[in-house]
Amino acid sequence: MVASNKKKQGNVCRECHRVVEGEACVVCGSGNLSTDWSGYLVIIDPERSEISKKMNIKLPGIYALKVR
Ligand SMILES: [Zn+2]
Repeated sequence: MVASNKKKQGNVCRECHRVVEGEACVVCGSGNLSTDWSGYLVIIDPERSEISKKMNIKLPGIYALKVR
């Protein structure tokens, strides 16, 4: 019994926390992805968002709050 009831929710880049569809991050090009993450963060305007500054997000998109 190994995490068979876990929902499939895609990959997240460990470098920048971007939610990725595929094998590599579209933002930083990293292949260092994690499936163990939680919390959606939708960044529409990174220039005006405090949380995007804290997380060093420069592009709009969907990010994860926590990545393990
Ligand atoms: Zn990335």
